[in-house]
Amino acid sequence: MLTQNLGYPRIGGQRELKKVCENYWAGKTGLKNVLTVGKNIRHENWQTQKNAGIDLIPSNDFSYYDHVLDHSLMFGNIPKRYNEVILKQGNEELDLYFAMARGYQKDVLDVVAMEMTKWFDTNYHYIVPEFYKDQQFRLFSTKATNEFYEAKQLGIITKPVLIGPVSYLLLGKEKEAGFDKIDLIKNLLPVYMEILNKLKDLGAEWIQFDEPFLSLDLTEKEQQVYRDTYRQLRKAFPKLKFLLTTYFERLGDNAALATSLPVDALHIDLVRAPQQLSGVLDLLPEKTILSLGVVDGRNIWKNDFVHSLAIIAQATEKLGDDRVWITPSCSLIHSPIDLNNEKNEAVLTPEIKQWLAFAKQKVSEVVLLKNLASANAGVGHHYKLAENKHAHAARKSSVLIHNQAVKKRVAAITGQDAERNSAFTARKLKQLQLLQLPLYTTTTIGSFPQTAEVRSWRAQLKKGNITQADYDKHIAEETEKAVKWQEEIDLDVLVHGEFERNDMVEYFGEQLAGFAFTQNGWVQSYGSRCVKPPIIYGDVSRPVAMTVKWSAYAQSLTRKWMKGMLTGPVTILQWSFVRNDQPRSETCMQIALAIRDEVVDLETAGIKIIQIDEPAIREGLPLRKADWATYLHWAVKAFRISASGVADDTQIHTHMCYSEFNDIIQSIADMDADVITIETSRSQMELLDVFAGFKYPNDIGPGVYDIHSPRVPNRNEMTHLLKKARAVIPEAQLWVNPDCGLKTRGWDEAKKALIEMVAAAKEMRATI
Ligand code: GLN
Ligand code: ZN
Repeated sequence: MLTQNLGYPRIGGQRELKKVCENYWAGKTGLKNVLTVGKNIRHENWQTQKNAGIDLIPSNDFSYYDHVLDHSLMFGNIPKRYNEVILKQGNEELDLYFAMARGYQKDVLDVVAMEMTKWFDTNYHYIVPEFYKDQQFRLFSTKATNEFYEAKQLGIITKPVLIGPVSYLLLGKEKEAGFDKIDLIKNLLPVYMEILNKLKDLGAEWIQFDEPFLSLDLTEKEQQVYRDTYRQLRKAFPKLKFLLTTYFERLGDNAALATSLPVDALHIDLVRAPQQLSGVLDLLPEKTILSLGVVDGRNIWKNDFVHSLAIIAQATEKLGDDRVWITPSCSLIHSPIDLNNEKNEAVLTPEIKQWLAFAKQKVSEVVLLKNLASANAGVGHHYKLAENKHAHAARKSSVLIHNQAVKKRVAAITGQDAERNSAFTARKLKQLQLLQLPLYTTTTIGSFPQTAEVRSWRAQLKKGNITQADYDKHIAEETEKAVKWQEEIDLDVLVHGEFERNDMVEYFGEQLAGFAFTQNGWVQSYGSRCVKPPIIYGDVSRPVAMTVKWSAYAQSLTRKWMKGMLTGPVTILQWSFVRNDQPRSETCMQIALAIRDEVVDLETAGIKIIQIDEPAIREGLPLRKADWATYLHWAVKAFRISASGVADDTQIHTHMCYSEFNDIIQSIADMDADVITIETSRSQMELLDVFAGFKYPNDIGPGVYDIHSPRVPNRNEMTHLLKKARAVIPEAQLWVNPDCGLKTRGWDEAKKALIEMVAAAKEMRATI
């Protein structure tokens, strides 16, 4: 029985990689430093895994920005627009790589970055490979071989990780019409062969092919390409050992396919999909090894050894010890690095800490499980098992986690709780009467610039340099300025600006019971960007109102309508580490009730327009289409519960910042928000066609300008877009707003853009 790991976090225990890269991009340090930090992280990672006792340690899992981009560079898949960057004197391979990731602006050269998208259903974003009709590939970067050699120098024979050829193609995007990206396999495969040859010559024994698409829905053609590809690889390398890894979902109807591919070991995710074990055991060919992904690579909970040992026993019974490996469920880049870095007991209490395991702890768990599963486990191992049992028993019964009142309240939810008093048409009449807003009502999405100054107040408060009263005074002044300024430029529905919020999830998590936070629990989101998700460990409730104070204060400053601003239950769930001892839907309902209470309190305080942001509803969609309906059912229900405690004339808004509504438009309509604001400016309003085709009944605010860039749009661009919108959506349904919140913008740009936006709306009114 061997242990292995599929990938280790690469940002460094103190986010060293982030810091050095950002310094390099800012021109504050040299490339040499970046390379040194990278090398140190790789060495430390290998050493950590070796010390823990992992048998098969990965290499080429490190990345300076993104592992998919690494592969594009390895395969020489470099879009033509970067040619000039390559030619520029003084640019190294890594400069080209960063140019592809982030764009390149220097002297007269101005090249845009490659597109980025979410890595399956995680919060990690990868750089999307671009494919063209006559796409050729060639071995360009030797990263995989370099890293293998580097580890070998340290005396570690690693298992190089490659994204499998089929998944690499499926991850990419066709940038012109007239071909199918999957047909590029014949051009791509020779480059894989070349890399494998070099790795073999250097002494590699095992190669890890990541093929996560095997756990997704595949077409007939894609399945056939899988068969052909692995047959060819096998034929070319009869002696190299292949590990095929799948994760994030069950193999499902691809189980026969996956088990038929000529590989030496198959990895399956038994955290996400434990039910697939028996089926795979039945199908597995006689000599194939099964790698059991039993330690959760995507969450922060300590492994339940009793549970994992039962799974291991089921596998060994059928396969024998030799054909079973113990593994985390997926790469550990999705978990924080080291629980031992959490030293502040006021932030993370010892009681909660004992329930957790980060990457470093997870590799030890894998080794311990192997020891416990073997016949000659020692006293020390049994002591650890007892300790583990104790931690789980403590968690099961902890009063920190279990709040009977919350459980009862969720159990008592009725259909009525998810219904507004009247249907939208009736509500709209009442709202029109009360709110008296003009057509083409102008508003913003919520946040105003989070300037360095605003952020510094929060830092000062945390350090104890200023008092809570000082801090509140600063926030109050900033809010007042924002309100006055919105009045001045004649916006219709105002916002308070969200100056008091560090982050749209963290701000709520900090005030809700059942949430914990870490000091160092960073996870890579994309490139140098890391996030520190809250940990939902217990039943969620709302001890006191969370936003009423600032919203009511802002409302008191103006006679215009002030919009209350909340984050929705699905988004809070989606952007947190979620407890694994109850279904996600259950946790979501608890959050929904807490938000519902907040909505009701805002209404009582006189806030008659309330926005519940749900930017993460779409990313929560399961990977398999067959599972969508179940998810959408509870996600929509959670939103409706949060929104339905108010009177008909209280107007509920929601906001979503993405542009693929095609598949989910029915569910968006089912959410039944009175107004939805969405991102549309970058798609030139084309996305509204989906809403128009569906005859979406409620009000819509299509974003009229892109807030992601500092560029200030002029009113003509916006009236142009609004006219396009009016052509497909009735005027009486249209609102006017930017694509998203303005927190990342400077005041100067934000002000200019909004003045133009108000002017555009007024021009539209004049044409009625
Ligand atoms: N209200 C939030 C803001 O304006 C919404 C952010 C988001 O959708 N991501 O910042
Ligand atoms: Zn947004």
